[in-house]
Amino acid sequence: MSETFSSDKVTTLVPYKVPSIYIVKGKRVDLPRRMAMATPDTALAIATLNRRVAEKGGVLYFSDGYRSSDMQLQAHLDYKASRASGGNRAYSPPPGGSWHEAGRADDIDVKTIHETIEGGYETFWDIAIEIGWHFVIPEPDPNAPEAWHIEFRGPFQELKEKIGYKEACRAAIRDIGGHPDDKYDDDDVQLIQADLLMLGYDVGPVDGIVGKKSRAAAQDFLTFIGPRAEEGDKKRVADRLCTRLEAVTWIRKQRRVKKR
Ligand SMILES: [Zn+2]
Repeated sequence: MSETFSSDKVTTLVPYKVPSIYIVKGKRVDLPRRMAMATPDTALAIATLNRRVAEKGGVLYFSDGYRSSDMQLQAHLDYKASRASGGNRAYSPPPGGSWHEAGRADDIDVKTIHETIEGGYETFWDIAIEIGWHFVIPEPDPNAPEAWHIEFRGPFQELKEKIGYKEACRAAIRDIGGHPDDKYDDDDVQLIQADLLMLGYDVGPVDGIVGKKSRAAAQDFLTFIGPRAEEGDKKRVADRLCTRLEAVTWIRKQRRVKKR
């Protein structure tokens, strides 16, 4: 996660070029630019997937990639509207809950890949997993809802195992400069804890509460980063981390005082 320290906006999305499911004036077009964006490691995983799949005769058409939180909100509202009118549109979570918002998920045309690749969807499944992609369905069933959805969690996979799917997803969204939701104060602590945990520090539970362990871990991190202070960005991140922990603790204290 060294790129996390490069700026306030952390990991920058890069564009990629893939054929989409969309046909305009009789011609297949590339996935629109606003969707064809991913973190650098995911973009590389997309290129690798395309190459490996093509080697087996497979054709991949993409229907979705990155979603800004506005786009995610729209997808969620479309889902709700569809449900309300008896439709069967696939579930789309509200903003803050999708790896699409982290530039780490894509949707592909299952029918085409299943029909073109040697061995069908199962081959696609094996190739994708080998590269480091994850599916949200348990078995390689091309007819299952969400069979089209693939996630490249990268460093957040390890985090997912520690703090769970949802929290890791939020951390991944934060990693590209997004705001998973508006509960900033508690969220901040939880994400700082998640960051520290990923860097190998023992923060205790990732619970959004600044306890002894969280504080000690932040301090250890600051001490570690200290001698490298000439690398301005790292120092700034470390400072911000401790300042935030302090600020959040202070806010919580005020709240407790008020409640009494
Ligand atoms: Zn998806």
